[in-house]
Amino acid sequence: MSIQFMSLASGSSGNCYYVSTREGALLIDAGIATRTIRKHLANNRLPMEHIHAVLVTHDHADHIKGLPGLGEGLHIPIYATAATHRGIAQNYCTRQKPLDTSAHTLVPGQPFKLAGFQIEAFTLPHDSQDCVGYSLKADGRHLVFMTDLGHIPDHAFPYISTADYLVLEANYDEEMLQRGPYPAYLKARIASSTGHLSNRQAATLLDQHFPSRLRHLWLCHLSRENNCPKQAEECITAILRQHLPPHEMPVMVEALQRTSPSPLYELT
Ligand SMILES: [Zn+2]
Ligand SMILES: [Zn+2]
Repeated sequence: MSIQFMSLASGSSGNCYYVSTREGALLIDAGIATRTIRKHLANNRLPMEHIHAVLVTHDHADHIKGLPGLGEGLHIPIYATAATHRGIAQNYCTRQKPLDTSAHTLVPGQPFKLAGFQIEAFTLPHDSQDCVGYSLKADGRHLVFMTDLGHIPDHAFPYISTADYLVLEANYDEEMLQRGPYPAYLKARIASSTGHLSNRQAATLLDQHFPSRLRHLWLCHLSRENNCPKQAEECITAILRQHLPPHEMPVMVEALQRTSPSPLYELT
């Protein structure tokens, strides 16, 4: 039995990912409406009732604005760090709507078990109250999520180096950002060490810390204005080719779409 993975939405208008084992399912972030989550899951015959919890990366609206809806009738517990829980309580998109669910506080570096996964959060540098990546292990496979980070912290390398499957931010192309329409303050925020990860930063990570077991890489949180999926995929693929035997590309690289769901992947 494998792990299943699906991206429901990925980008600044909303982020939500689905993962499951035979014991249950989890959402990572809920930055889209509950009815949209329900629709995409139903299209894949996945019942909402199998979701044991939502793991929140950080308290920006594009990752949490669907949380109030998940409480209504479903009572899906929310797992986040203490600072992220405080941020959720104060955020404009959630503070008017009391969360009808239970809050669980997780501590980075302290593993816990849920829905058949061994889970560990690790901190990421981002301009929110707090931000974490997630390491999920089940059935001998290791799936790692890293989104919304201005640079790669050293303590993330051990997670990355053992990943079979990696969901990694590739938010912007550096030249497109600098030439693009954003005001200077926003360009500076995105490019800062607590902003977002560029295609080049993602490629450099893989160049310097290539995960030898990597089988599938999904690029996430691509900017509509400052990136394009083809360019991001080509930038990363060029680096991977340097690490893999000629005429062989055992690693799949795919940019996740911003508003359409991915296929449901079986991670065997
Ligand atoms: Zn975001
Ligand atoms: Zn963010």
